[in-house]
Amino acid sequence: MAYQEISLLEFQNQFDSEDKCVEYLFRVRWPEGFRCPLCHHDRYYTIARRGLYECQACRHQVSVRAGTIFHRTKVPLRKWFWLIYRMAISKTGVSIAEMQRELQIRDYKTIWVMAHKVREAMGQRDARYRLAGLVELDESFFGPKSREGKRGRGSERKTTVLIAVSIYTNKEGIESPGFAHAQVVTDASAETIGQVLDRLGVEEGDKKLLINKIRSHGWKSYGKMAKDKDIAHHRVVLISPKMAGHLLPWTHRFVSNVKAVLRGPHRGVSAKHLQRYLSEACYRFNRRYWDHELFNRLLFACTVGVPITRDKLLGSGNGSIS
Ligand SMILES: [Zn+2]
Repeated sequence: MAYQEISLLEFQNQFDSEDKCVEYLFRVRWPEGFRCPLCHHDRYYTIARRGLYECQACRHQVSVRAGTIFHRTKVPLRKWFWLIYRMAISKTGVSIAEMQRELQIRDYKTIWVMAHKVREAMGQRDARYRLAGLVELDESFFGPKSREGKRGRGSERKTTVLIAVSIYTNKEGIESPGFAHAQVVTDASAETIGQVLDRLGVEEGDKKLLINKIRSHGWKSYGKMAKDKDIAHHRVVLISPKMAGHLLPWTHRFVSNVKAVLRGPHRGVSAKHLQRYLSEACYRFNRRYWDHELFNRLLFACTVGVPITRDKLLGSGNGSIS
């Protein structure tokens, strides 16, 4: 589908009715035309209700929203599309308060759930990317402000996050970052780090790690893990935490950006939902050079994958939705 990134105004004109959104979603879901999910027949009747189609062969009825994050939503697609557009083109993310105003939805929870469904879709989309070659690894601690900046494993009430950034080196030896992944982990043990690396660096159905070298600050878990997996380990020596910016530049830069965003538009987030904010930051980082098709790509991400439910998002536990 030919699509150029368009201005806010053009976007609003293009999607100024529910019917236009339904039509667009139809083309995103069935780019080759309608396919019945049961019998693969390609002819259908349009049911009077918006976005509902009936297979002419087996009479199966299918909604254009089924299996997407829009399934059973009461919010019009127009508002969803707007939220997705804003999240897609923003460099830092959008705040709930902004979206309450722009979408004219008063209920905080409704928008909060919508945004998290989009974040979940971003995370699932990025889970397909594999890291290869040299990967810079570092762990960081997210949590209450009081101990912000203090580097150390096991600080109480902090959530440990493992950051992995793949690195390309050109002929002149100049490095540039490739894909980034950030994962909430229970601990920074060799076993845990190894499991994350397996998830990030092994193609499905294969066993061979695509990562052949890691760079870290030399915490013993990294050394042990590298030895276990028989990959090279470039251990940098951090005499002071300030040196991390030079010696582990890519993970360091990524973490600074994420922390700035979490302090800014989101004003801090709870540990329970941190992973989805990290997924959003990675999604954005991994597409930083793509300045077109961002809306289309994110809309597509929202139609594939396994949508997270409102109940799961708001489910029991600490009840916090920040
Ligand atoms: Zn059918």
